[in-house]
Amino acid sequence: MSNESAVVGHVRPELFIGGKWQAARTDATFPVTDPATGRVLCEVADAGVEDGLAALDAAAASQSWWAARPPRERGEILRSAYELLLERIDDLALLVTLEMGKPLAEARDEVFYAAEFFRWFAEEGVRVDGGYAVPPSGNGRILTLRHPVGPCLLVTPWNFPLAMGTRKIGPAVAAGCTMVVKPAEQTPLSMLALADLLTEAGLPDGVLNVVTTSKPADLVRTLIRDPRTRKLSFTGSTSVGKLLLEQSAEQVLRVSLELGGNAPFLVFDDADLDAAVDGAIKAKLRNTGESCTAANRFHVHRSVAEEFSRRLADRLSGLRIGRGTEPDVAIGPLINQAAVTKVSELVQDATTRGAVVLTGGAAVDGPGHFYQPTVLTGVPPQARLLHEEIFGPVAAITVFDTEAEAIAMANDTPYGLAAYVYTRDLARALRVCERLDSGMIGLNQGLVSNPAAPFGGTKHSGLGREGGRVGIEEFLETKYVAVAQP
Ligand code: NAD
Repeated sequence: MSNESAVVGHVRPELFIGGKWQAARTDATFPVTDPATGRVLCEVADAGVEDGLAALDAAAASQSWWAARPPRERGEILRSAYELLLERIDDLALLVTLEMGKPLAEARDEVFYAAEFFRWFAEEGVRVDGGYAVPPSGNGRILTLRHPVGPCLLVTPWNFPLAMGTRKIGPAVAAGCTMVVKPAEQTPLSMLALADLLTEAGLPDGVLNVVTTSKPADLVRTLIRDPRTRKLSFTGSTSVGKLLLEQSAEQVLRVSLELGGNAPFLVFDDADLDAAVDGAIKAKLRNTGESCTAANRFHVHRSVAEEFSRRLADRLSGLRIGRGTEPDVAIGPLINQAAVTKVSELVQDATTRGAVVLTGGAAVDGPGHFYQPTVLTGVPPQARLLHEEIFGPVAAITVFDTEAEAIAMANDTPYGLAAYVYTRDLARALRVCERLDSGMIGLNQGLVSNPAAPFGGTKHSGLGREGGRVGIEEFLETKYVAVAQP
């Protein structure tokens, strides 16, 4: 307990604006709670619109100076921050677990994942280049320049409180953008710790500004509508993403949206079933199912459906549920009681329509917000959980007979973030990957996240990509100069 108090006590629970830690103008605060116990961890500053504008003032004032710094200098700051993240991995992982709930081992994975974005973009930032070309007519020259897009508003969710921050801050810093970050109200502590760490790594005052608030709507809308903001990068739910996209029209902002998913997990009759079950556990239970890439629907070939379902249920029923800080816990709490209620309703809807519970199927008594790892078979097509993001440890299994049917079922959703395919037939694997309408596919593996790969979705799952070679492009503008014939 003392280590927990020390880790929380080390965080500055204030707004970080222009390099200074400060209370909200109204002195308001809001509580951050541990979802495993319901206990308040601490109070943090509750920014209002005026505080948000002060943060944007700082970001706008630093923009042109920051854009002119040498790319190597910006990269070295990210590299130092990468090293500091790894040095402090134990404390940061504990902080993530305390405010978000995921098991400590997964929180450590998140710190690694978060740090890798800084290492990756430290390397990418020095490779931004333009072009000098002869047009087809041979007349004149085409000179192409790259510029940082300008001050950015970065809005992050609670499910990966550190990594969703570094995935945006890394490329923004590397490209030469300044920023206002608004972390989720459920998990602001990891972002505040990150701001402190980036300052220690040498990030100049005003480049990164962090505003925590319990009332995001007014603050975010005001900053989106302020002409000094030039880009919005948002990760969160599809409903809020659509709202912010509408708001962004007013100033014609550059927009990146990483939104919700409804990932299909396809298991063909020739799949390696051991690998498919291992992959299913990763794809379903990482982050206790609260991951945008989580497998939401399992479509399994009729000939292997019973065996796959039984094996998956056996493995899930043996997993330990508990507070993420306890040893060997695989299933942490959901983020709050509303999440438990939603998952319970989805399971009840499916069972009422005829689905069969192979394991789990119920919430766990408090304190804390726990739900049992659950496997449902015979889930009928109308069941809500085949159409909505479950965001909990529930695997819904349906059966298919043909490849065409599997692809049609997989694509029958307005979402298109991740999909998973298990088959040992190379031709089928390629055929199916080409036909699945999603931004990312795990082929015989249950994890797609990788800082070196372009992360993002199609349809209602978002716009743009984060990570990979394209990640920095989202933070750059292209300018073309028409040069007279030399
Ligand atoms: P959310 O949309 O409720 O909140 C996300 C962020 O938006 C938070 O910072 C929140 O404070 C802010 N916000 C909420 N309402 C707002 C409003 N009216 N105006 C402005 N800002 C507002 O989402 P969440 O519950 O924090 O996160 C879970 C969702 O995020 C899931 O749908 C998940 O799939 C998605 N997600 C997507 C990715 C991805 O990369 N595609 C990654 C992680 C999470």
